[in-house]
Amino acid sequence: MLMEKERNLVVEYGKKLITENLTDGTGGNISIYDPETGLMAISPSGMDYFIIQPEDIVIMNLDGEIVEGSRKPSSEKDLHIEMYKNKPGITAAVHTHSMFCTTLACLGMPIYSVHYVLADAATDVVPVTPYVTYGTKDLALAAVEAMGDAKATILANHGFISVGKNIGDAFGIARECEWVAQIQWRTMCVGKPNILSREEMERVMIKFQTHGQVKEKK
Ligand SMILES: [Zn+2]
Repeated sequence: MLMEKERNLVVEYGKKLITENLTDGTGGNISIYDPETGLMAISPSGMDYFIIQPEDIVIMNLDGEIVEGSRKPSSEKDLHIEMYKNKPGITAAVHTHSMFCTTLACLGMPIYSVHYVLADAATDVVPVTPYVTYGTKDLALAAVEAMGDAKATILANHGFISVGKNIGDAFGIARECEWVAQIQWRTMCVGKPNILSREEMERVMIKFQTHGQVKEKK
């Protein structure tokens, strides 16, 4: 079986999407890419995350062809493929319909740096990808363009996607962005949130990059 380690990680992190409230039902999807073989392990379409087994994970190449697997891949396979084609050093992607990121998505509103942990996403503002029909290559290309050098984007009237140097990184960004989106929404319910400057966020990004332990103490 190809990509056994990656298959197991997709299964494990799929369950975490549910247990950490980043999606419900069968929404969202996860993939892991191996640049050496050019293959991607992606979650299957429409399956309960607690039923998915390693053999249900679909192995694809970046031409969108199934290399191994009997299941139908996630309908957002192109969204994952285009990230790996266009973003060097990225080997994992997490797509969610998490409550607060999706709330902002339906407002067409970015995630602002209302809290410094947003620096995890390598940006001071998580940009919005304009609305494009789900499951299309046009959505994938629009998301890559909107994301730029950031590691996440809000998908208008849809949800969210983050990418990372490994699955733990991509998943952590999804979790932090959801938390900051919730804080942003809550503060906006009461008044006008104070937003940290780009300069300060760049300082935090440098701290995050150079002091791995610091992040765990935040
Ligand atoms: Zn979606």
